Amino acid sequence: LVRALNVIKTFGGHQVLQGVDFEVQRGEVVCLLGPSGSGKTTLLRLVNQLETLTGGRIWFDDELLGYVERNGKLYVRKDRDIARQRARIGMVFQRFNLFPHKTALENIIEAPRQVKGMSKRVATAEAIELLDRVGLADRANFYPSQLSGGQQQRVAIARALAMRPELMLFDEPTSALDPELVGEVLGVMRDLAADGMTMIVVTHEMAFAGEVADRVVFMDGGVVVEQGAPAQVLGNPQHDRTRSFLRRVR
Ligand code: ATP
Repeated sequence: LVRALNVIKTFGGHQVLQGVDFEVQRGEVVCLLGPSGSGKTTLLRLVNQLETLTGGRIWFDDELLGYVERNGKLYVRKDRDIARQRARIGMVFQRFNLFPHKTALENIIEAPRQVKGMSKRVATAEAIELLDRVGLADRANFYPSQLSGGQQQRVAIARALAMRPELMLFDEPTSALDPELVGEVLGVMRDLAADGMTMIVVTHEMAFAGEVADRVVFMDGGVVVEQGAPAQVLGNPQHDRTRSFLRRVR
């Protein structure tokens, strides 16, 4: 579903991604691990086109992200075309980023209404189903400030799902939560994975990665250092950098 080839990203002369190759199959759950600053967030943001590539290419469902290729030349896609690509990808951030002045339900129906032109009735019915799916059927009319961090993050997941994405990106979705709230969010993500959702998850939750990921990708210094089945990468890492990272986070 996603294929990244020699992805390079620089911020003001600082090369954050130095040629990343990366693939995700449909239905696969990939956990991205690595120390702070290794470029994990940047890679996710490139997939969701919140950043533009400095070099390399990313395909989503065999379509180049952000560009169209004609006669070996790359042309920037039209905004409308980029919006269409982005609508197929859901993202959940570390901070929940809900609209504070909208209820849980209103947060969820916003994008289907605005982007897809869905009727209020249909969007609301789907939102209620999604709230039920993340265990918050009874919180539809609560404002973010009236919800715990874990509940807000579950609303954020429901909001992303409301666009019926083919791919879900999670950027450290539990790292801003109090420890006792982490489990409920990971539980929702685990259910989503079991339902067959394609997911890329940046996380420091090693137990989750070990249990839920089909593949674990370890990044350091802007490159993929090693990747493979969780049992292999977490249980029998081949590289010193992976080993020392795992020692630090466990
Ligand atoms: P973390 O776990 O801390 O989020 P990460 O592996 O996700 O780390 P990134 O957030 O991708 O790493 O950041 C990689 C590097 O890129 C960091 O050195 C960061 O300071 C830099 N960086 C990220 N975004 C920008 C930006 N918009 N402008 C300048 N530098 C940036």
